[in-house]
Amino acid sequence: MDERDCIFCKIARGEMEAEVVHDEDEVLAFKDINGRAPVHVLVIPRQHVGSLEEVTRLPESVTRRLLEVASTVAEKLGVGESGYAVRINNGPDAGQEIFHLHLHVLGGQRIGMP
Ligand code: AMP
Ligand code: ZN
Repeated sequence: MDERDCIFCKIARGEMEAEVVHDEDEVLAFKDINGRAPVHVLVIPRQHVGSLEEVTRLPESVTRRLLEVASTVAEKLGVGESGYAVRINNGPDAGQEIFHLHLHVLGGQRIGMP
């Protein structure tokens, strides 16, 4: 996937609208356009990384920051105590649709395992 055509790169560059809930230099968080739980946010590195197989392209500090921002966003949206799931869909069996690495933060209801 070319970074010019990647919709999450476009959101990161401000070329496409999104409901941003957390914004910093290397990491961005915005609401999922098709939220499947009362809280459903996507946390992305601004740098394009297609999948977990390419995660080593990210500086370690950014990889860590993705998890910290997931936690920060959960707190901010009021599910820090009730709990939430952090999920990465990677590849066909997980139903990955967007090939720019992202963490789903899901909460506000019981989030089960498949
Ligand atoms: P997946 O690749 O399986 O993790 O799923 C991609 C997620 O991105 C889905 O939950 C979509 O609803 C979401 N999504 C797709 N386009 C947008 C967009 N423009 N803004 C916010 N979320 C989006
Ligand atoms: Zn991208």
